[in-house]
Amino acid sequence: MVEVRLENVTKRFGRVVAVDNVTLEFPDGRFSALLGPSGSGKSTLLYLIAGIYKPTSGRIFFGDREVTNLPPKDRNVGLVFQNYALYPHMKVYDNIAFPMRLRKLPESKIDAKVQEVARLLRIEELLDRYPGQLSGGQQQRVALARALVKEPDVLLLDEPLSNLDALLRLTIRAELKKLQRRLEITAIHVTHDQAEAMSIADVIVVIDRGRVQQVGSPDDVYNRPRNLFVAGFIGSPP
Ligand code: ADP
Ligand code: MG
Repeated sequence: MVEVRLENVTKRFGRVVAVDNVTLEFPDGRFSALLGPSGSGKSTLLYLIAGIYKPTSGRIFFGDREVTNLPPKDRNVGLVFQNYALYPHMKVYDNIAFPMRLRKLPESKIDAKVQEVARLLRIEELLDRYPGQLSGGQQQRVALARALVKEPDVLLLDEPLSNLDALLRLTIRAELKKLQRRLEITAIHVTHDQAEAMSIADVIVVIDRGRVQQVGSPDDVYNRPRNLFVAGFIGSPP
């Protein structure tokens, strides 16, 4: 488990400045939410941390280790997307085992780990099914399991609950929070949903137009918004 640190990180796509000189720390072992409206640069920031994008300028650290120029596979991050991104032709078991098979771990070790995360996420009964035979909530549990088998230092979640219906969203939200506490993993959860960020996060980073607007506890950003944008977006009076 490590903290994630960004120093003066900028990412441009042509003329668009998606992330604009961001300096920020996501604390070790805590649940951080990256909250902002659509197009504010949340996913870009997450992909910079994952190594899917390289910053135009600036540096990224995991603990003392600089990762700015490392490819995703050398960063030990677990990624979960909105649309699950499971392999449809593989059974749940093989989906979860896949990252470990890539690393050529022995099958006995792989099996023990698959069983362990399956228990943790309560999907033991689903291991023989194909993703197409699962509900949205079950698919998202499998995606989480697949992200966790690598024992990542950092868990990155890009709107992981957005495709779920309202009730399931609340259930999985609570489970995710419990899991993060139990594993004490550094989690960064992207969302445009204020209520979701408030309920799940220890730390909320509010972002707009590629810039950090405020970093604080849910209580801070709700009751002591630092500017009008935060006040308006979080929905409490300034
Ligand atoms: P969010 O996840 O908060 O909705 P994004 O990080 O996806 O926002 O996008 C931030 C800005 O960067 C937007 O203006 C978006 O159009 C632009 N952008 C994101 N990814 C790309 C890309 N691959 N190519 C060009 N522009 C992009
Ligand atoms: Mg996004």
